Amino acid sequence: MATNEALELIASLQGYLRDLRDTGVEGLPAGSVFPAVRGAVPSLQVEHPPVAAAEPLRTESTIVPVPAVQVGGIDGVRQELGDCRRCGLAATRTNLVFGAGSSAARLVFVGEAPGGDEDQQGIPFVGEAGQLLTKIISAMGFRRDEIYICNVLKCRPPQNRNPHPDEIQQCHPFLLRQLQAIGPEVIVALGTFAAQTLLRTKEPISKLRGVFHDYHGIALMPTFHPAYLLRNAGMKREVWEDMQKVMKRLGVEPPAKR
Ligand code: SF4
Repeated sequence: MATNEALELIASLQGYLRDLRDTGVEGLPAGSVFPAVRGAVPSLQVEHPPVAAAEPLRTESTIVPVPAVQVGGIDGVRQELGDCRRCGLAATRTNLVFGAGSSAARLVFVGEAPGGDEDQQGIPFVGEAGQLLTKIISAMGFRRDEIYICNVLKCRPPQNRNPHPDEIQQCHPFLLRQLQAIGPEVIVALGTFAAQTLLRTKEPISKLRGVFHDYHGIALMPTFHPAYLLRNAGMKREVWEDMQKVMKRLGVEPPAKR
């Protein structure tokens, strides 16, 4: 098999395994057929079904101890992180991807880790999934510079593999302090990994999404990762329903259709 074909097959298999994980399946189902060919990605359908009534925060998730209040705001967190070499990902990254957006954002999106494009540019969510996230943000009536976007891990795992526990342990405290410095009204956790890490749970994203959880007093809405939507366009309606609940909590209306 040619090298390019092998790389494409590995990338496609990784996507399939992530799809399984995002739907709560931990291993390959018996007799499963690997979908070598994936469908084309339709554009984001922005529909406006009635907004569900605001739900109270779920508080059954284990609450992570609140770190000490930091001085210096988000710039202070970035300064302390520095040229971080606290875990092995420092050896393989091109750029550390700290986060981007407003330090006074009312809304923060948290993903899993930088991918290839993000690693090259040092900016979160700039690849294909990032472009879809930008569409979602626009559909909600925000610009990217009005909200904040970051990841649980700030350096790219090689070949976009799943983060290792020691990497999370080293990097997660900085995410906590980032969120604490910004103090948003709502956090959206994108995908299984971000939701499970922030909420300290093993529940799959399919069960966590759609309701607000409590994260140190901040409303946290888990939803599917944009990369998952690129492979499963049929789940966009669920994500839009989740985002409508976020908009309702923030008291914002989507921009009028043209
Ligand atoms: S992933 Fe986080 S802890 Fe590891 S080197 Fe990068 S910034 Fe440091």
